[in-house]
Amino acid sequence: MAPASGSGRPPGRRGGARRPGSLAGRRRRPAPAGAPRHRPTHTHRGGGPGRRGLRGRGARRHDPHRGVRVRPARRAGFPAARCRAALLVAGALLAGAGGSLRAAPFAYHTYDSMVVQLAQLESDHPELVEVFTAQDAYTLPPDLDGGVELEHWIVRITNEALGFAKPEVLLVGTQHGDEIVSLEVLLALADLLTDSHGTHPWLTELVDRREIFLVPMANPWGHRHGVRSSPGAEPGTEDMNRDHPYDRCSGGFCSDTDTLSTVGAQAIHELARRHLFRVMLDYHGGVELILHTWGSPLHSGNSTSPDDTALDALGQRMRTYGGPYNGFLPVGTANQLLGPAYGPLDDSAYATTWDAANADPSYPTEGWRSLAYTIEISDDKTPPASTLGGDADLLTPGGLEDGYVPKHVRTALAGIDIAEPYLVWSNRGAIPSIVAAETVIPVEWQVRGCFDVDETRVRWGSDPDPLNVFENETPTQSQTGGEPCFEPPTSFSDAVTFDEPGIYWLTPTARVDQALLAQGNPNPNVAPQSFVVRSRTETGLLFSESVDASEVNTITGQLDWGAEPLRIEVVFAGGFLFGDGFESGGTSAWSLTAP
Ligand SMILES: [Zn+2]
Repeated sequence: MAPASGSGRPPGRRGGARRPGSLAGRRRRPAPAGAPRHRPTHTHRGGGPGRRGLRGRGARRHDPHRGVRVRPARRAGFPAARCRAALLVAGALLAGAGGSLRAAPFAYHTYDSMVVQLAQLESDHPELVEVFTAQDAYTLPPDLDGGVELEHWIVRITNEALGFAKPEVLLVGTQHGDEIVSLEVLLALADLLTDSHGTHPWLTELVDRREIFLVPMANPWGHRHGVRSSPGAEPGTEDMNRDHPYDRCSGGFCSDTDTLSTVGAQAIHELARRHLFRVMLDYHGGVELILHTWGSPLHSGNSTSPDDTALDALGQRMRTYGGPYNGFLPVGTANQLLGPAYGPLDDSAYATTWDAANADPSYPTEGWRSLAYTIEISDDKTPPASTLGGDADLLTPGGLEDGYVPKHVRTALAGIDIAEPYLVWSNRGAIPSIVAAETVIPVEWQVRGCFDVDETRVRWGSDPDPLNVFENETPTQSQTGGEPCFEPPTSFSDAVTFDEPGIYWLTPTARVDQALLAQGNPNPNVAPQSFVVRSRTETGLLFSESVDASEVNTITGQLDWGAEPLRIEVVFAGGFLFGDGFESGGTSAWSLTAP
């Protein structure tokens, strides 16, 4: 077969000039992007080691919740009895609310109204949503509040018809029970993702290509009482964001609490054991910051983690896409902007798996190599409802009805998007499936889930896997800096022609983000460890976990990424075809006829 060729059409991408916030600019910047605009009105993380009492590892309290918590090979599901009961309640509320559970502007939920809304979410979108509790899935006890049992609810959002071998992300709200605005962000996010599936192209891609786990109310007891703490051995005695199995002791000091002494932290741990979360966003309130690792005393001397380049890049993107409501958010390490804490979820989610020497060996997991953030939403932990915003224009920074909830729906979307690179055709509908030889076919595509497009082009050949087996490709284009992958992404374009009849497969391909390997002075001095960086800079099977035999998760690295290949049949240019030609814009009238 004679080779076809690219047309040599010049790249159609928009300008490649760097603007502030580009990856290169970020790499040059030695210090975090800014300092807090407001001092915390509340000591969120508490002081450093000097303020902690000496408490050795031998001082464990008895924990009746310890023991066998795993129910093997059980796939979590919404319990049928509870589901029916919740839906009955939901139906009653719907009838009284004129058919809408939530009308803009956003308003606060209670534990009970959250449970009703989650049941409604699953009922409305059974093909996208699964709602379950850590109590049912992992055999954990409920938190008790008088005679009331409070459970830890988990929501999984993904297009289930496309399977479950997808990049996983975790978003957590309300570890601190009085920081209630975080719950509203995650409920609004769940509504947006499910309501937009099938209508909004980008949000549809996210639901199709990701498994998105939400723990919207990680501390239901604290939320119910409007307090920071969780029940441990006694009600309200534990801070669950000091309860995760990383940096429990360092520098001669130890955490005030025993590891995983709260059911809420156990629930997150059991979830993390069963998944490989690429990104973990933990939403709080009390100050307005985007914080990333390191945030524990172990690394307070040098808070630059091995993945600092990626962590800062995503932090800057969340700052920009979060937008100007009440000011753009400063981005930096938790140690620098707020202060260190023992056993915080962010450092635990980043390092528990690989920095085993500083993790609690009683709680191993393969799942914690996340790009991990503590996102502080609002200076007021319970901001007035008038500042929550509405759902009129959730995707526009500074848009109509902007507020704390829309702002952080956007930071969440940025975190979900970056989990893995993906390519989409921009003009798939305009590319004919049958075409005459030597016809010039314009192709347009986007590269997403990345920061920089190092190389991109279209490849094609007679093999159905043109990403890896190809005979031709267009000239390479690139765009580093200027956010080519994110809202709005660059639309790359080129054109292809086929000289000879035959069956061809084509796809755009890209290599992205190799600059995330850049490091300054990391602590410890090792290469980047995160799933996000390693899965786009290395190849082959990199990670796996199989806690539940029915749901094994793996991460395979790729350097080159492609879209779903297009099949094109090329026929002789003369005498085979009649009807509207592609160049005149129509495809429906193409048909074959005898010569
Ligand atoms: Zn908090």
